Formats: sequence, C-alpha cells, structure tokens
Amino acid sequence: MRRRQCLTWAKREVGLQCQRRARHDGPHQASFSDRSGTHFEWNDGANRFGYEVHPGTVRYRPGTPSLAYRLGEWTASVLFFGAFGTLMWVIGSPVAAVTYCLVVMLLSVQRPHFVDVGRFTAGVFLVPQRNFPPFFAIGFARYGPEPDAGRSGLQVIIGRRSLMVCALLPRTEWAEFQRRTAERDTARRKDSAR
Ligand SMILES: [Zn+2]
Repeated sequence: MRRRQCLTWAKREVGLQCQRRARHDGPHQASFSDRSGTHFEWNDGANRFGYEVHPGTVRYRPGTPSLAYRLGEWTASVLFFGAFGTLMWVIGSPVAAVTYCLVVMLLSVQRPHFVDVGRFTAGVFLVPQRNFPPFFAIGFARYGPEPDAGRSGLQVIIGRRSLMVCALLPRTEWAEFQRRTAERDTARRKDSAR
C-alpha cells in the first residue's frame, strides 16, 4: 500500500494542504515549512476563524516506499525491458542495442544525470516523491508548464525514475540562442585582442 498525504486543504485564507497521512485520526494539521516550529490545526468544515495554532512541526514525509511498491516497480521494469529487448531483437539493429544498454545504465543510477547534445538533452532523474507516481507512464515533455506549451520530447517514468529525451529550446529560439552565443564569443575575442 502506498503512503499518501491527506488531501484536505485548509480554506483559501490559509492555503495549506494537511501534512498528515491519508485517513489519519483527529484534526488536520500542517506547518508552512519544515523549519516552522508551529502548525495549524483544523477540523473538516472549519470556518475561517476555526484554525488553531499549536507548537510543533507537522510536515508530510513520504519515507521509503513499501515492499509491495518496490516489487511492483521491479516488475514494471522487467516487463519494460522484456518488451524493449524483444523489440531490439526484432529490429536487430546496433542502434537499438546501444539504446537498450543506455536505458539499462540510466535506470541503475541514483542521482540525476543529463547529457547535452547540441539542442537536445537526455537524462534520468528521480521523480519528486510527494506522492509516488505510477509504476509506468509515458508522455510528452513540454517547454513549459502551460498546457499549450510545445512538445519538446519524450518522457518515460518507471517507478521513481524518469527518463527524458527532449530539446532544450524550440528550433527558432535555438538558432537565436546560437547566434547570440557566437556574437558574445566574437566580442570576447575582440576584447582579449585589445
Ligand atoms: Zn488531514
């Protein structure tokens, strides 16, 4: 079973999510930060004056995922690699084989790693563990958080790790960026020549 955070939010005036675990007993409690020495306490249906402030820090910590979660993550990884391996075998190309090795290597890392190749970047990072993500998800990476932001690449989530291959900037902005970098380099060379 996954450990989840209580989904209750305080009223707009406070704008704070309950920091206790889901299905907890008693009132909702939340501190504004890990360093805050006090916490708000409220009951369901509290009015805007129904908050009490008490000493003590109440912040949600996800902790280590359960054994069941980790087994599921492992199973999803094995299934993914099985599918990928089969695909590689069917296609039978060295490119597929290299990609497969890279994916396996990337999945074994614990820290974020990114490799930039020109306008593109590829890397792996750990998904923030507020609430554990699904075992497997695949989607488009975008240039920004706006829903109409252009697609920049592909993102695959396996358990807590996310693989991402995407462009750093749209093609037009990249040309602009390179032009500016070149101008700056030229200016710097002129400066040092003087
Ligand atoms: Zn709560």
